[in-house]
Amino acid sequence: MSEKLIQGKTIYEWKKEYSLMNKIISTEEVLWTNSRYGKFEDAIKKISLSEEDVKDAEERLKRFAPYIAKVFPETEKTNGIIESPIVKIPNMQRKIEEIYNKEMLGQLLLKCDSHLAISGSIKARGGIYEVLKHAEDLAIENNMIALEDDYSIIDSDKFREFFSKYSIAVGSTGNLGLSIGIMSAQLGFKVYVHMSADAKQWKKDLLRSKGVTVIEYQSDYSKAVEEGRKQAQSDLNMYFIDDENSTNLFLGYAVAAYRLKKQLEEINVVVDQEHPLFVYLPCGVGGGPGGVTFGLKLVFKDNVHCFFAEPTHSPCMVIGLMTGMHDKVSVQDFGIDNITDADGLAVGRPSGFVGKTLENLISGSYTVKDEQLYVLLSVLSDSEDIQLEPSALAGIHGSIQLFKDDAGQRYIENNNLKDKMKNASHIVWATGGSMVPKDVMEVYYKKGKELSSTSL
Ligand SMILES: *Cc1c(COP(=O)(O)O)cnc(C)c1O
Repeated sequence: MSEKLIQGKTIYEWKKEYSLMNKIISTEEVLWTNSRYGKFEDAIKKISLSEEDVKDAEERLKRFAPYIAKVFPETEKTNGIIESPIVKIPNMQRKIEEIYNKEMLGQLLLKCDSHLAISGSIKARGGIYEVLKHAEDLAIENNMIALEDDYSIIDSDKFREFFSKYSIAVGSTGNLGLSIGIMSAQLGFKVYVHMSADAKQWKKDLLRSKGVTVIEYQSDYSKAVEEGRKQAQSDLNMYFIDDENSTNLFLGYAVAAYRLKKQLEEINVVVDQEHPLFVYLPCGVGGGPGGVTFGLKLVFKDNVHCFFAEPTHSPCMVIGLMTGMHDKVSVQDFGIDNITDADGLAVGRPSGFVGKTLENLISGSYTVKDEQLYVLLSVLSDSEDIQLEPSALAGIHGSIQLFKDDAGQRYIENNNLKDKMKNASHIVWATGGSMVPKDVMEVYYKKGKELSSTSL
């Protein structure tokens, strides 16, 4: 019998080479730590993007702030800057320690991108940034605006008419489409959102209500992206937002780190050599967690440790990083189905750009079962009265796995962090949730309650 080869190797050979591969293929939970993880000063030399690029993105968002404040009144109180709160969640920390029967050293915090204005997910960073960047490029090329202008003039029929000659296309599992659709439609662009089968109905309905064209597929995210890319190739006035490769998306996400630094100072959370920071980031294709990680590394260097989180059925980034194959392999190649309720993370093939850029800066990556996400959802709601969508709970799991899993304990020892853990801060990046309709959230919550009483 001839066996299928994946990049020249049989499944048996892959399993022999990587001790975690068997568990990953069996969709068991794993915590992988990165053997290529290195010092920031060495890693950054190999990366073509720099702090200057992130600062440039930050400045662009400041230029657009007067416009954003005008057209999205919910951003008035932050003067048009789209930023989320960070909160300490001690009740949740105690609950987790109880449930997992393990002590978590340090303090637990939640970065509430779930409550970002305009689109209620981390995509309100990268997605909106790239649309604004494209709009600015077009407006400058056509002498409609200058960098010194007050950008609130963009809220006018003149600009809407101008942008209506152009269109924007994107492939998405839901939230990226939501942020790009809402922002582009507001500016006046024609927008086409290619949605994978995972996308929730309410996300499609909301976009259609804003005049966005939603094209639905029976297949997964990779197909939706491919179709969006194809559509844009045949139209010179159509701009494709490439979630798999875009440096603009990446830089839009990265800006978060500079703002987080200020927020942490305001609540007296210290990050330095004696006070390590751990950050847990839900990962789909990798752009969001990757961009945030890049920014955090620029700001906190070796004092920050970033872990990515994926569903056990969509472990594309952990496979890509572990094998070094990045976007050359998909989870389906290994017989994993990429079917998960965590729609924001339902991606079978990772971004090669993100994996290669950050291969020496990501500390590790772990997987979590859907059932755990629901349980954590209901526990967070009960303990802190914060409601998130299932994808956004993937981060929390890591904060306790670091202590429960041997690989996590080895990471702490190998990085000489053992005696510093009591001073550590753990930031869980809550990537989405505030726009979930009440009745849908109620179903999630009930599911979590039921699962808590049975499985744990
Ligand atoms: C998109 C998304 C992510 C992950 O971002 P990627 O850029 O796809 O890796 C995480 N959580 C939620 C809720 C998302 O929508």
